[in-house]
Amino acid sequence: MTAHTSIAGGDRLDAATRQEIAARLQALARQLDDHMAAQRERLSAEASATSNTFIAGSEGAVASAEDDDAMALLRHDEAELKRVREAQARLAEADFGRCSECGEWIGRERLLAVPQAHLCVACQTDAERQHRVRAAQIG
Ligand SMILES: [Zn+2]
Repeated sequence: MTAHTSIAGGDRLDAATRQEIAARLQALARQLDDHMAAQRERLSAEASATSNTFIAGSEGAVASAEDDDAMALLRHDEAELKRVREAQARLAEADFGRCSECGEWIGRERLLAVPQAHLCVACQTDAERQHRVRAAQIG
């Protein structure tokens, strides 16, 4: 009966694992910060380029499509950074590592791979499926 929880991969995290996750979250936050700074730089460089090409006509449209991509990337990074910050805040809590949807332990392996994860694999799969269904309905 006690062996069952370890087979499921769900278990309370030990101090060493928490430390490793903390280090990974910090590295991730730094990476995202760098990436976002680079995107912002690109956007402002393109903004000045766009104001020049705008008068020329069609080139402006191409530049703004690229801006949309850069903006989408930036928003993605911002959302990701928010999740990282939230995970960093949760790390201090005894409950860190529990799925925010079903309350099961997410599992050491998954948290080391995706330290900002707040859903277990099953709930994540569900969420992604629902997201795809919604996207299909809109599109
Ligand atoms: Zn779950």
